[in-house]
Amino acid sequence: MKQPKGQRRIHVLGITLVSSMAAALAFSFQVLSSLRFFPVVTDAKTIVSDTGSTLENARRPLGTQKPEICFPDASVHIFMYHYVRDPVPKDAKITVQLSVPVRAFEGHMKTVRELADSWKIAVVSLPDLQKYREWNCYPNRNVFVFTDDDGWIDAYAGLAPIAKKYAVPFSFGIIASRLGAPGFVSAKEVAALARDPLFSIASHSVSHSDQDAISEPAERREICESKIILERLTGKPVAAFVYPAGRMSVNSSKILRECGYDLAFTTHYGAPWKESKTRYDINRTRVYPETKNAFFEKLADFR
Ligand SMILES: [Zn+2]
Repeated sequence: MKQPKGQRRIHVLGITLVSSMAAALAFSFQVLSSLRFFPVVTDAKTIVSDTGSTLENARRPLGTQKPEICFPDASVHIFMYHYVRDPVPKDAKITVQLSVPVRAFEGHMKTVRELADSWKIAVVSLPDLQKYREWNCYPNRNVFVFTDDDGWIDAYAGLAPIAKKYAVPFSFGIIASRLGAPGFVSAKEVAALARDPLFSIASHSVSHSDQDAISEPAERREICESKIILERLTGKPVAAFVYPAGRMSVNSSKILRECGYDLAFTTHYGAPWKESKTRYDINRTRVYPETKNAFFEKLADFR
């Protein structure tokens, strides 16, 4: 049946409008997809991220293979915790500043997991970070890495179970001579942490001496012997060193290289790590008792 001329014009106009809208939508989708942080829906069951991970794979450890899509200039934020405990003690200022209440820590981990599940960040272990660094190929624009210093008893009893609940990898900097000392984790607990694929062990020296205040032979003992002790205990390579009080000497890099370390961390505030001078002088970001979840969300928005 032939349509009257006026109706035909409206019909054609309608088709033009609909096709323009469809084209605009397709274009927006293309633009958003090309930004590489927008998940691409391929079918009802599988959501594929820009890194090729499926939603089901989101909690699997990364780093076992080179990512299909690389972000060579990723912002790598390395966070540093010390104590996770209640109540936060009211003694020395430094102890207070280094303590994070359990509830706050759980909030941090929950936020980090949500950010990782929505591909705003990749949260990776320290051993995996080293692989990405060698490849110069990171799985996301924003990479978060978590470290905990000193090996206080709450690392095992307080921090680890919550990190595990949210599948957030942690590296524990352990002082080799304090294993089993009052208030510190035992050798058995460190071995148990090392057995968990989510966790890794770093050396935090033998006796927690300031590396810039001791002789070169003493520094060598602190750096090399702690590695041997912790590797014997865990049966795994200990490839990262954490400077006690963040202090490195003029000899530290040379000794670390000779003893076979890949990376070393200071306590200098700095993020991302591309601002660090060398692989033995890596900045970290301190987490305070008052650090809010929004702090992590803001860093994840960095492009
Ligand atoms: Zn320390």
